[in-house]
Amino acid sequence: MGGLLFRKMSEWASMVAVLLVIGAGFVPVLAAGLSPVSSMNTGDLEKCLLFTIGVHVEPLGLVAGKGPGYNDQRLFELHVQDLRLLAGMVERHGGTLVVQAQTPFTRVAASSGERVLSDLQTRGHEIALHFHEDAHLGRNPESQAASTWAKTMTEEISFLRLAGATKIRYWSGGNLYPGILDAASAAGLDVMSDYKNPHSQETSLLVLGVNPWRPSDGPSGDDLTAFSEHSPNGRIIYLPDGSYDPEGFAAKQTIIRKGGMEAYFHFLEESLARSLRDAQPDRVNVFHVTIHPGEFTGDPEKPYAILDSFLSRNVDPLAASGSIRWATFSQMADAYTQWEETHCNVNPHSTDASGGSSSAVSDKVEWDSPRGSVPSNVRPSEGFSGQCFCTVRALEIGCVLGCCDCGACSLALPGTD
Ligand SMILES: [Zn+2]
Ligand SMILES: [Zn+2]
Repeated sequence: MGGLLFRKMSEWASMVAVLLVIGAGFVPVLAAGLSPVSSMNTGDLEKCLLFTIGVHVEPLGLVAGKGPGYNDQRLFELHVQDLRLLAGMVERHGGTLVVQAQTPFTRVAASSGERVLSDLQTRGHEIALHFHEDAHLGRNPESQAASTWAKTMTEEISFLRLAGATKIRYWSGGNLYPGILDAASAAGLDVMSDYKNPHSQETSLLVLGVNPWRPSDGPSGDDLTAFSEHSPNGRIIYLPDGSYDPEGFAAKQTIIRKGGMEAYFHFLEESLARSLRDAQPDRVNVFHVTIHPGEFTGDPEKPYAILDSFLSRNVDPLAASGSIRWATFSQMADAYTQWEETHCNVNPHSTDASGGSSSAVSDKVEWDSPRGSVPSNVRPSEGFSGQCFCTVRALEIGCVLGCCDCGACSLALPGTD
């Protein structure tokens, strides 16, 4: 299995080339070569997926009963080292991170003179806010006024600034609070992502997919109806995670426990493939993965070897062909704003590029379709004889012509799953 999985990149690239010839509808075809996101025009966006790696720095040490966390200098320095290693590795792939931090990490960085956040920002990575409301607003944060949330978020942003970050636009967190959009806007933020219920770890098909939108209102507990609806006047741009299977998304820890990190990266590969398939021409399409410092164990010298391999095998070839472009969350939001300027009447949830409006739900793939059946709302890739479900991983193991979601690949190649 290892030999197949770690097939040389050149072989992988040639397989992609084969697929480009066979099924132009599956892997987006663009002029070869990367160009900076800042120079994109809407024509460049056709079937291109903007990609990044988000990093959550959790409030370790703030939640009662969980130890000293980042107040223990050794843990703090270990995770600083982790961030530097990760950034260096991602830079070798031509990529950028979005590091989302909060106190006590930021407070310790500021008081100890640790410049990791400003260093990373200088090197092109985005620094942003990861806001755990329970850690910063106490029990039952949803009962607090939006002005209290805004004040606390502003305080958290001030610690990011004290630690050397200067451009803070993005946050993750506050996912159950109806006033989150107002609070964040008052704190000077305008880009959000990473919705999941903090209690159940579950997300929803309403907020998955690849096309950003402006939520018409905040989430109301579990009710995401208004949040998932687009309002042209919305002040916040929401960047969905991508076309993840919501069950797998919520089951990350179970997947890792049962199959190790390899199984989780298999899930990420499938999610990337689904996102590529769902990318629409004439839309801004986004996808990201989220990781945490200290999450990767194994060889302490190379904790990110598995992520490095994921990027080499899946992202680098697609970036070289133009199907993927690295972009920070702010760059994704700017690309979306730019798209809006030339698509005034187009609902970003619609599948009709002429501007027809449809609900977020009807555009989503029904992931719970039984294995072997084709979800009714999936459009077959043109020119691919109706066999449209090959995943990136399946490409790698040689199943170019198989219909992977129906099990043909795993049947043809026993032992590879
Ligand atoms: Zn997290
Ligand atoms: Zn978190």
